[in-house]
Amino acid sequence: MGPRNGAHVLEQARRLAGDRRLYLTITHFHPEHGFGAQAFKGAATIVYNRGQRADLRRKGAGYLGMFKGQSPAVAAELEDVELVDPDLVYEGEAEIDLGGRTVLLREVGPAHTGSDQIVLIDGRVLFAGDLLETRIFPIAPYFPPHDTDVDGEGWIGGEFDKLSKPYTDPSPASSPTPSSTGGSTHWADRGPLVPWVSGRAPETPSGYL
Ligand SMILES: [Zn+2]
Repeated sequence: MGPRNGAHVLEQARRLAGDRRLYLTITHFHPEHGFGAQAFKGAATIVYNRGQRADLRRKGAGYLGMFKGQSPAVAAELEDVELVDPDLVYEGEAEIDLGGRTVLLREVGPAHTGSDQIVLIDGRVLFAGDLLETRIFPIAPYFPPHDTDVDGEGWIGGEFDKLSKPYTDPSPASSPTPSSTGGSTHWADRGPLVPWVSGRAPETPSGYL
């Protein structure tokens, strides 16, 4: 989050990559995931799906203001943020051959955001951003008027669910565990908790949870 952190990540990427070309992608547009991307502009090829770019353009400034209000420390990190567009956009999915490693980018959603993205490396290492959480409820960012795009139905169903299934029940031989604390908590696996939480929503002042 913020240009200082973005520059640090770029420095580490350059150290690891040597002379090789750099790509930057993020799982979704939220500030703590992508608001340091400006450090990569011109230094890497930035790739998002079209919906991610639309989310960033439409809601980026609102989120910047919201996050700056969280604490002075967060505000300081976000002080010089410039929201930058990707260099390449795709729809559906894209594959990048990194030379010996293949990276699949696939759009998912609307779910956690208007357009999320999963990143699958060599068919076995999955980055799902905030679509998967460990030992907490899913993070549902409903922040009117800045953002009302979170879609629980889209989150539970759809392609992401199919793709994530092998990762929610990892077998030692074939699937990595997505967290060092053990197992994922895709919210479809929470069973009765989802209707229970939905049933409590009318009791809240705002009518949602
Ligand atoms: Zn998020």
